[in-house]
Amino acid sequence: MLISLVVPCYNEEEALPVLYAALKDVRSQVTDHSFEFVFVNDGSRDKTKDVIKSLAAEDPDVRYLMFSRNFGKEAAMYAGLEKAKGDCIAILDADMQDPPSLIPQMIKDIETGSWDIVAARRVTRKGEPKIRSFFARKFYRIINKMCDVEIADGARDFRLMTRPVVDAILSVSERQRFSKGIFAWVGFRTKWVEHENVERAAGESKWSFWSLFRYAIDGIVSFTTAPLRISIYLGIGFACLGFAYLLYYVIRAIILQIYNTVPGYPSLLSFILFIGGLILMCLGIIGEYIGKIYIESKRRPIYIASEESKDED
Ligand code: UDP
Ligand code: MG
Repeated sequence: MLISLVVPCYNEEEALPVLYAALKDVRSQVTDHSFEFVFVNDGSRDKTKDVIKSLAAEDPDVRYLMFSRNFGKEAAMYAGLEKAKGDCIAILDADMQDPPSLIPQMIKDIETGSWDIVAARRVTRKGEPKIRSFFARKFYRIINKMCDVEIADGARDFRLMTRPVVDAILSVSERQRFSKGIFAWVGFRTKWVEHENVERAAGESKWSFWSLFRYAIDGIVSFTTAPLRISIYLGIGFACLGFAYLLYYVIRAIILQIYNTVPGYPSLLSFILFIGGLILMCLGIIGEYIGKIYIESKRRPIYIASEESKDED
């Protein structure tokens, strides 16, 4: 079997040599399969490109793809999966946060034939900022309530997949990719292996709090239309409330003969403000979806490569 290990890299010049050593280790441990390492350089601003090239010059199992600019990890993963030729393909981060030492066991699990995917899951978030863990947990709670597919908390992009799974993932050709959702959406039999959170080998995380927040919103919008439905329910709810309020005044006027009373101005104002805000929020939600449609309708490629390793065949 040929096993491809796909590594998206963005500014990972320090971590790459460490990772490569670990991957070589895996290769020497698993002797009954051949390997290829597919590095995708996602428009790094440091020397990542040179590091990858020098690895490729020494090691014929190293293949690479250079992006013309930074397209994001999602695009890098897609490109890597597309380039990989293996019968089994794994995606792992360049920073050693996805322990390569798990790979031999993952291969054994796939070989049993009872699993199509062996995916890693973090059971702790040790070493991560508290606020980030808190919001990450909330995000998984919310998205799982809204979506039909189950996205496991702590699930990483680190997973070993058989060829049919990868082909299924590649066939999902949307531009705005939310891989955690796509992985869950394609189905197949998944085995979870759990590991503790590992800190980066070198360099720093590319995610700021806000970029994660935007990622979360994007994930929800690309995987479920539940927010649209919620805005319908809210609309219906408030229309009913308004109607009940009207009814109350009409009945009061007929039965109790109380007509216009001047007090009530503050409540009126707050209703107007509240409902105005609600309308804007719902418009915003609709806008998010229209934005997605707009981007998808351009049918731009997911990434642009400026250079790639040559293959003999
Ligand atoms: N990455 C990428 N493109 C980006 C950002 C990140 O290819 O625009 C890669 C990065 O090199 C690493 C992986 O995605 O291999 C995970 O990134 P990071 O470690 O910054 O994320 P975290 O582990 O903090 O979630
Ligand atoms: Mg990381």
